[in-house]
Amino acid sequence: MEYEAVIGLETHIQLNTASKIFCSCKADSWNAAPNTNICPVCTGMPGVLPVLNRRVVEKGTLLAAAMHADLQPVSFFDRKNYFYPDLPKGYQISQYDRSLAKGGYMDVPQADGTLRRVTIWKLHMEEDAGKTKNDLISGSRRIDFNRCGVPLIEMVTGPDLRSADEAANYLTRLRQLLRWIGVSEADMEKGHLRCDANVSLRRKGETILNTKTEIKNVNSIEAVRTAIVKEIDRQSRAYEHGERIEAWTLEWDEDSQTLKKMRSKETEADYRYFREPDLLPVYLTDEWRAAILQDFPELPLARRARFMAGYGLPEYDAELLTAERSLSDYFEKAVQAYGGEAKRVSNWLMNDVLRMLNDSGKTTAQLALTPAYLADIIKLVEAGTINTNTGKGLLEKVNASGKSPEEIVRAEGLAKVSDDGAIRAVVEQVLAESPGEVAAYRGGKVGLIGFFTGQVMKKMQGKADAQKARALLEEMLR
Ligand SMILES: [Zn+2]
Repeated sequence: MEYEAVIGLETHIQLNTASKIFCSCKADSWNAAPNTNICPVCTGMPGVLPVLNRRVVEKGTLLAAAMHADLQPVSFFDRKNYFYPDLPKGYQISQYDRSLAKGGYMDVPQADGTLRRVTIWKLHMEEDAGKTKNDLISGSRRIDFNRCGVPLIEMVTGPDLRSADEAANYLTRLRQLLRWIGVSEADMEKGHLRCDANVSLRRKGETILNTKTEIKNVNSIEAVRTAIVKEIDRQSRAYEHGERIEAWTLEWDEDSQTLKKMRSKETEADYRYFREPDLLPVYLTDEWRAAILQDFPELPLARRARFMAGYGLPEYDAELLTAERSLSDYFEKAVQAYGGEAKRVSNWLMNDVLRMLNDSGKTTAQLALTPAYLADIIKLVEAGTINTNTGKGLLEKVNASGKSPEEIVRAEGLAKVSDDGAIRAVVEQVLAESPGEVAAYRGGKVGLIGFFTGQVMKKMQGKADAQKARALLEEMLR
């Protein structure tokens, strides 16, 4: 029997605002000591009132727009009631039937070049809860309220994904998009982007939705992929044996790479949602919405397509250069400053500048090597003023000093030596110093030409016109 996987993802996205959603505590308390980033509001003390952080609405609006969702002029907060130690109020302030945005979708490129359209079923604002930890030494449970009130967007997709790879692709693209529009750092290891996966199977060709299980506690894209593969495998074996799939909640255990049954799933009715009486409705006026979306950026997939169509870049280059918005901005500025073929800039950027970025751990904005300086270096190489090797060394020198490429070339005398006489003198010296190699070359070991060229370049500090040096060597060795 051939089965098809039906997967939907529920993500919790931590917004990168300065403060929490309803109080002035810092939003991000990664690595802070437990219970050091809390106040009476986020710990639900009696008599306090929440005040909505407007930046949460703004970032939520940006994300909804990026998801092509229908932004609602009026939305409400609701109380989602449940009893759990890490929820001091006994309810979570969330949105239910009247949320910030309705509908929407995200297109995800597949390995075969087609796009998978993933629909968005839910997109709303809410606060995070705290964290309970089992203390192994004392055997007690401990609660850290630092995360209470951290602003989240909950986003739920339709059951549109068909494999573990598609689910991983969606998350990779979502992470890219969140960083691109600047609403979240989207670091899964820090809990900025959390994902639960709903998985069910059906016979190929069917359109029904069978009972699904929910996988929780997966905190990397690779873990999501592996956990879904294992769950698909478990369910298909169960169907083969004629067993029923029950609506379990499964927990991913990273250490043992296995899924464990957590508890039977609550239904929505258990939460007894009702309007939050302590907060006003959110009025997203036309003016406010226009102000938020004023500088809405070109999104990664659109830019990727434009890089291919407009600059004639191969897909590989376009993909890599649009991995991050700052990098793609850097590329475009360098292309404009260069004025020539964009592929040349792409080559320099992908081979050398990316390595510099990776080695230094810096972002493009922190590089002293500006896009204009990169363009200058490429132009100096193209004009034959310096050779390619000198150009590559120049990248580092410009970046270390902040001086212009021309200035460094002038000050250090890096201009390429093409003068026959000067190169010939060095070639003679090299041949005189290596009689053994010369004899070997003449005896048929012509591969030694590389050795001789290297020696000449070394003596001339890499400044010689390499082709000319090689030609002179061959001539004199004959
Ligand atoms: Zn607080």
